[in-house]
Amino acid sequence: MKQPLFGKFGAPNGDHMLGPIQKITVPMQRYAENEPADYVIVGVGAAGGVLLQRLARAGFRVIGIEAGPFWDTERDWVSDEAGSHNLYWEDLRITGGQDPLTLGANNCGKGVGGGSVHWAAFCPRLHPSDFHMHSADGVGVDWPFPYGELKPYYELLELEMPVAGPAYYPWGDPHGYPYGPHPMGGVGDVLIRGCTKLGIGVSIGGPVAIISGSHGDRPHCIYRGFCIQGCKVGAKASTLITHVPDALENGAEIRDNSMVARIELGKDRRVNGVMYFDQEGREHFQKAKAVIVSGYAIETPRLLLNSACPGFENGLANSSDTVGRYLMAQAGNVVLGRFEELIRMYKAPPAHAMTEEFYETDPQRDFVRGFAIQTVGPLPIAFAKQMMVAKGAWGWGLRRVMMDYNHWAAIALLGEILPWPENRVTLANEKDRFGIPIAKVTFNLHENDKKLIEFGKNKVIGVMRAAGAEEVVQESRYAHLVGAARMGNDSRTSVVDRYGRTHDISNLFVCDGSIMPTQGSANPGLTIQALAARTADYLISQGDAIFDSSKRNMERPPMREDLSPPATWGKGVPRLK
Ligand SMILES: Cc1cc2nc3c(=O)[nH]c(=O)nc-3n(C[C@H](O)[C@H](O)[C@H](O)COP(=O)(O)OP(=O)(O)OC[C@H]3O[C@@H](n4cnc5c(N)ncnc54)[C@H](O)[C@@H]3O)c2cc1C
Ligand code: SF4
Repeated sequence: MKQPLFGKFGAPNGDHMLGPIQKITVPMQRYAENEPADYVIVGVGAAGGVLLQRLARAGFRVIGIEAGPFWDTERDWVSDEAGSHNLYWEDLRITGGQDPLTLGANNCGKGVGGGSVHWAAFCPRLHPSDFHMHSADGVGVDWPFPYGELKPYYELLELEMPVAGPAYYPWGDPHGYPYGPHPMGGVGDVLIRGCTKLGIGVSIGGPVAIISGSHGDRPHCIYRGFCIQGCKVGAKASTLITHVPDALENGAEIRDNSMVARIELGKDRRVNGVMYFDQEGREHFQKAKAVIVSGYAIETPRLLLNSACPGFENGLANSSDTVGRYLMAQAGNVVLGRFEELIRMYKAPPAHAMTEEFYETDPQRDFVRGFAIQTVGPLPIAFAKQMMVAKGAWGWGLRRVMMDYNHWAAIALLGEILPWPENRVTLANEKDRFGIPIAKVTFNLHENDKKLIEFGKNKVIGVMRAAGAEEVVQESRYAHLVGAARMGNDSRTSVVDRYGRTHDISNLFVCDGSIMPTQGSANPGLTIQALAARTADYLISQGDAIFDSSKRNMERPPMREDLSPPATWGKGVPRLK
């Protein structure tokens, strides 16, 4: 077992105290600003954390620049809903369109680990059909590669996080999970009961990136349900605990509380570094041989657009005018049901049972593509908000329903919304505290999306009723933003190629959820991390050629299984044979 380092951990913006699950045994590497790093990664979130770790392990000089803090899980996190709002990106954004998305809290993360810190850790894969949706259904777009190319990375990340789940998962590309499932909570029981009554198959106990028992030195789940609040225990996977420690041990540097404002180009029209502001608002310039933007589906296009310069007046990598476009969110309607018996939905991780029976296009329905149904377990503050919207509860009525919290269960739709060019991120006139124009997000539902949501919502309500709920209400909402810098083979219709390299600038990359051309109805986190591991393999296989040549070698890279973080790879709880 590695010894945790407690005590001061000097970072450029001040000292950190590290908690026991952030095992870092060496001081953090420091790179000079005026010496070019091999790679600067903007944003150390779900994708950025995996990239940082892989590139550092392969021997590159790599710096992650992160807008939020380097969390000390001991000091900064609490097992308390009200005390966890600082985990989210709460900075001002403008939302618009006919079906505006709720931004801010509960949308994306800010801080080392990004959204993987507050995700619920549901980890389904995309289905093979997601990769050729346009050919099959005539909507959206095909991915530039088939499912089979990502499959080995799904398998690798499932070992790396690791992911607990059933021995046999029947949907998409049927497979089993290497690590045993979790026991059921009250909400899972409701989903199973309702689905079983209606003859719908259910996956029980995962797939979820939470340790399902005690194994090695990784703390196990204690079923208190604070997963979305970070999981102070350390049972839930986030790149903060699975990848970042290994990255730092292998020579990566992280500059936290540092907001990248612009990507700069040299006279050769190639990227030569990034300009960023530290916490005190001081301006810095970090030289880099290549830059990877991993800032999430809103901040990534914002940064590319804000980096417009002579020759790239429309924003960087935007000759196709697709930067910011094809932004997607999944329909995430929450259906709440009251039961006579106690449910206690705060107990157990919210993510522990689901069905993908309705995932694929069904010619019997009047829309294409489909949806999943999943457990969610809102804690009291989230529940109160849902009851205000779904039931109009207020004052005494709200108080009464809150006293009844333990009798309610919540299950949710996760429905595929198609990629549309008008659903997009642009720059607003307003600016943030550094004077950087903020993002404006425009979102409209289209005919297929509306029909899918209506059908899916009613199906979830039917499951809740079949489970025996005496009262059922629902809240319409959206989850999981992706798209807005999509990948494709055609430089006229996409921002990056199949490995995340921008079509326009050969040493500028994008690697996060924004490169996804379509989203399916699987939660995106596993796919985002699998894509990051694949991009890292490509960069590593290209060696130094990336830094000074514009020639693109599109050969599929060998998979580097040896680069997985040894502290978490294979450290799940084996299932009983
Ligand atoms: C409540 C909730 C629950 C979720 N549950 C699940 C789930 O169960 N399963 C699942 O698969 N997904 C889930 N998700 C979604 C998942 O968290 C995201 O899809 C994923 O984290 C996105 O990864 P990313 O790499 O694109 O961006 P992020 O993980 O958000 O990382 C982006 C990082 O970049 C930083 N950054 C942005 N701009 C800049 C800049 N200019 N300079 C410096 N740093 C910058 C940000 O601070 C952030 O840390 C959930 C999300 C929420 C909100
Ligand atoms: S329920 Fe388990 S995974 Fe969720 S916060 Fe608690 S210990 Fe962590």
